Amino acid sequence: MKCVRNTLLFALFFMLIFLQPCSVNAAEEGAAAPEEAAPLVCVVRFSGAGLCVYGDPSLAGVPVAVLADQTQVQVLEGPMDFIARIRVPGTEVEGYTDMRFLGQADAIVADDGLYTYEEMEEDIRQLQARYPGLLRVDVTGTSADGRNLYALTMGGENPTQHILVHAGIHAREYINPLLVMEQLEKCLAFYDSGQFFGRSYRDLFSNVAVHIVPMVNPDGIAISQFGEAALRSPDLVQMVRACYAYDVAAGRTKQPYEIYLTRWKANARGVDLNKNFPFGFALGMKATQPSYAGYSGLLPFSEPEAASLGSVTLQYQPSVVISYHSMGEVAYWNTTESRYTEINRGFSSYMLTLVPYRRMGGGSASGSYLDWIYSGETPVRSITFETGNVECPLPAGQYPKIRVQHDAVLPAAAWYASSGL
Ligand SMILES: [Zn+2]
Repeated sequence: MKCVRNTLLFALFFMLIFLQPCSVNAAEEGAAAPEEAAPLVCVVRFSGAGLCVYGDPSLAGVPVAVLADQTQVQVLEGPMDFIARIRVPGTEVEGYTDMRFLGQADAIVADDGLYTYEEMEEDIRQLQARYPGLLRVDVTGTSADGRNLYALTMGGENPTQHILVHAGIHAREYINPLLVMEQLEKCLAFYDSGQFFGRSYRDLFSNVAVHIVPMVNPDGIAISQFGEAALRSPDLVQMVRACYAYDVAAGRTKQPYEIYLTRWKANARGVDLNKNFPFGFALGMKATQPSYAGYSGLLPFSEPEAASLGSVTLQYQPSVVISYHSMGEVAYWNTTESRYTEINRGFSSYMLTLVPYRRMGGGSASGSYLDWIYSGETPVRSITFETGNVECPLPAGQYPKIRVQHDAVLPAAAWYASSGL
């Protein structure tokens, strides 16, 4: 069943990309200005040879139009799972299309690939202003270099379940904070019109609160993006230089300093945050002192960023956790010591029908976040997506495909969480 659905999704994806183009460019100057109740305006994005519009919601048969990228459309209905009913203003074109290739025309979160802490912070501020009743913003701690650690909560007026999504725990994997921020914005924008498997977003997200920790490791991300100059604390600059000296002496890197910094995974104190959790702490440690990668720290939760993610987890006791890492287009779903293998088998299978990644087996405990939640008292379903298929940091050109692959992850996870499975 999984294979059949995967195949169908792939087939749909490639049909949409490769069907013959008959471009309609309908960005009409004279189109009526949107009023408050007007349909949301989107633009076609990432469609390759064009986005097909069909007369039927099954998206079968001959397309009535193929829209070039940047074509503006009005979303009349949807998304309904992956499908939206749209109209191209100023033309006769109206029909059904694949929602994953549409982005809001006035989106706050911009997809330029190099998504910085400062951009994210500004986007959070703007999202909060645009969707005041739907989004709660909490600062759950401060990083070693003085940046805010954010947790964003969508929905949850009457939560029976909690979902936790986190990204950017490893510095060089900074494409994923952009991904989760876009996912959040899309759900907020379609909160009143979207539906998944027959449930409206409003209904789904009022019962299932989604907590997003969009950038677990902002200091490390600043290092990977901009080098040591991004650090505010001179002590931390010295620490990063000491890491380089250690890694060179230990034969852990042969790269020049600037390239080495782009490959940074740790926080600004040289601790790999995904080894700073209690279960299996320091087992299989790859570095014996602070390093760009692989050092566990002196104690579990010694790092404010790991402690903050830990406290959000303990506060909400999520039944579903989604972790974003890079790279490989694979998904981890289990660990050797997990207490929740059985319930997680169903969840991970479900998610992998939507995200076409290869399932990987889990290793033994090494103090990772997953090791910790899989050993806890709260039964948890969890999947870790490794986005992209080239070395980190992923270039911006990797992003469009990642965005399409993960478009429905939040509503799908909410649907699953509320299903009682
Ligand atoms: Zn990672």
